[in-house]
Amino acid sequence: MPEGKYIIVTGGVLSGLGKGITTSSVGLLLKMQGYKVTAIKIDPYLNCDAGTMNPFQHGEVFVLEDGGEVDLDLGNYERFLDVNLSSDNNITTGKVYKNVIEKERRGDYLGKTVQIVPHITDEIREWIKRVAKKSNADICLVEIGGTVGDIESMPFLEAVRQLHREVGHENVVFLHTTLIPVIGVVGEQKTKPTQHSVKELRAIGIDPDIIIGRAKEPLAKSTREKIALFCNVPVEGVISVPDVESIYEVPLLLDKQGLTDFLMKRFGSKRRDGLEKWAEFVNKIKNAGERVDIGIVGKYTDLSDSYISIVEAFHHAGAYLGAKVNIKWIEAEDLEHGDLSLLNGLHGILVPGGFGMRGADGKINAIEYAREHNIPFLGICFGFQLAVVEYGKNVLNLDCNSTEIDPETEHPVITILPEQEGVEEMGGTMRLGAYKIKIKEGTLAHKLYGKTEISERHRHRYEVNPEYIDEIEKKGLVFSGRSADKIRMEIAELPGHKFFIASQFHPEFKSRPLRPAPLFYGFVEASLEKMREVS
Ligand code: GLN
Repeated sequence: MPEGKYIIVTGGVLSGLGKGITTSSVGLLLKMQGYKVTAIKIDPYLNCDAGTMNPFQHGEVFVLEDGGEVDLDLGNYERFLDVNLSSDNNITTGKVYKNVIEKERRGDYLGKTVQIVPHITDEIREWIKRVAKKSNADICLVEIGGTVGDIESMPFLEAVRQLHREVGHENVVFLHTTLIPVIGVVGEQKTKPTQHSVKELRAIGIDPDIIIGRAKEPLAKSTREKIALFCNVPVEGVISVPDVESIYEVPLLLDKQGLTDFLMKRFGSKRRDGLEKWAEFVNKIKNAGERVDIGIVGKYTDLSDSYISIVEAFHHAGAYLGAKVNIKWIEAEDLEHGDLSLLNGLHGILVPGGFGMRGADGKINAIEYAREHNIPFLGICFGFQLAVVEYGKNVLNLDCNSTEIDPETEHPVITILPEQEGVEEMGGTMRLGAYKIKIKEGTLAHKLYGKTEISERHRHRYEVNPEYIDEIEKKGLVFSGRSADKIRMEIAELPGHKFFIASQFHPEFKSRPLRPAPLFYGFVEASLEKMREVS
């Protein structure tokens, strides 16, 4: 069994080629061979973490057990590898520089001039090794964000070049993902951009062992041979990843082309099998029988990456139930002018997490519609809070709101968490990460989770105002999940409704391909029933 091995994933030509999925897929193949695998994402930006970044530009902020607010690729790693990662598995330029500058201020560098090489690169190298060691991994994948040639990623590439030298060639595999464009009517696959990006890598001192070529169609034999020749890799090391229906097919695709065997040979070990369960899961996704239409009423609906964990949680639940979840993206602001026709024909409505007042009224209208028309509803975080506001407004007839939306509201049914008052810094200051939740017996939540104590991940600053709990419950909404100290409301549900449940936490972050999140499973199941009823 090899140990202390690294697979470094770089990207060439342009970004957005699905490097994260490639990294996750390679990790899965190795895990199925019996190795303990971990993965690190390097983001060459100056933010210390993704928590302060706009999901509209950057995609979802993923939340880890330890409360780390990280790049969405860590969500892919967790889903494919079925592991829980820590904040340290996401390295950013900001984090690295912060550490080095703090050391410099403490005087740790003993009067030396502090420089990018060797001090920043040492910090990066030590960080990678520390994470690999701490997670007891046989193999550590390191994905370097951005594209080779970017100024930002230079120190990281230099650091992994040094790592290669330090730990030895037999312990490091360089995998380069690139785009193979197709030009002209004959559809010739062009390898020149790939040649150039590999040339750039080699100038830095990195020789790729494997090249993954992204293109719409599979790479032709001649294309693979050409890449092999010009980029100095064996033909078996040139792997083709065409567009596929589901991201979960990628590991199977890589395996079929011999990547597992290639890596086993490189690491000097024997191959065993274990992809059957995964193949079965992919089959279920691809051959789903029934289709159910679910609306997501959100704010960042132009970029589905903003809600990637929710989309994946639907895939997991759908595969389990043999159904395809067809997501309809509904911009919340479009529901603010009295016309709710966009909600017609939906079998389920989800209101996800969010911040601020824009679109809040549209979300409230969608919740009212789901509640009154007996349409399955799942609310997450902000969606949970707005479900409480909706109930207060329309059932308790209170002129109420969340103080996040209206600080002067007469009835603040949602208020700032007491420990959040006075917090001014934005980065990493919310109620973050895993907390235990107690579930009331005999409720829908209890039925779905099948236990009375669970742990789920959080990311919020506001909560249900304790002063209104009794009043709300008297009118029928049940708080079926509460924090371990019973102070915080975590789940709300409506008995008698087909399926109406909302959680302060984010169930989507813990959904895994072969283990769908209970709330998503229940929601899709109820939506399927609705679909059968109406069709
Ligand atoms: N804006 C709300 C809060 O801070 C909800 C946050 C969320 O949906 N992630 O509590």
